[in-house]
Amino acid sequence: MRITVAAIPTTAPGRLLLCRTTVRCPECRQIGVFSAITPDIYFPEQETPWGKRKVHAGSRICLNEDCRAHVFVVCQNQKLVQAIPPERIDFDSTNVPARVLLALEEAIACHATECYSAAATLARKTIEEICEEGGAKGKNLEDRIKALGASIVIPQLFIDAMHDIRYLENDAAHVMAKTYGDVGRDEVEAAIDVAKEIIKACYQYVAIIDKLKALKKSATP
Ligand SMILES: [Zn+2]
Repeated sequence: MRITVAAIPTTAPGRLLLCRTTVRCPECRQIGVFSAITPDIYFPEQETPWGKRKVHAGSRICLNEDCRAHVFVVCQNQKLVQAIPPERIDFDSTNVPARVLLALEEAIACHATECYSAAATLARKTIEEICEEGGAKGKNLEDRIKALGASIVIPQLFIDAMHDIRYLENDAAHVMAKTYGDVGRDEVEAAIDVAKEIIKACYQYVAIIDKLKALKKSATP
């Protein structure tokens, strides 16, 4: 559910000025120093072997005028430890076909909520959708990735990485797999990074080149 705040209170108590937190907005994905819109809740300080722990929590609002999303934050010693809704990996959705976009957004949403096995499955689905959209044919995903690799300009390392995403999902999907425990935050982030690069090669480089061609044409007498 998306919650937005229409306006920041104009008579904010002075303490609000202290409650600013750097957050990547879960809605518009812009990063900024978000201001508090109500006084934070301060919990009693706790002594730990690592020093004093000061925890406070409260409401923040995205500074992007077109977004104004509400985010609840929990901070420890002035550093963000939890945002609700959680922060999400940023990506450029320009020219990305709807079915590819949906799979990638769901992978990123699962990553944000620490559901890494589900995120790995959706990262693989993103690759499947890219192959489908690109008309890459083959009897299985391995063959379709090879066909896609032959039709786009991208370093071979990324094509190899797409095969790794295929295996990653296998590990995530089969509970008995020995490597099941290996599908974690780092593996999923790497898979999403690869998917983003493939998306650039398939949909976004072409758009930039088309723009440059159009500029060239309009500049020609
Ligand atoms: Zn925002």
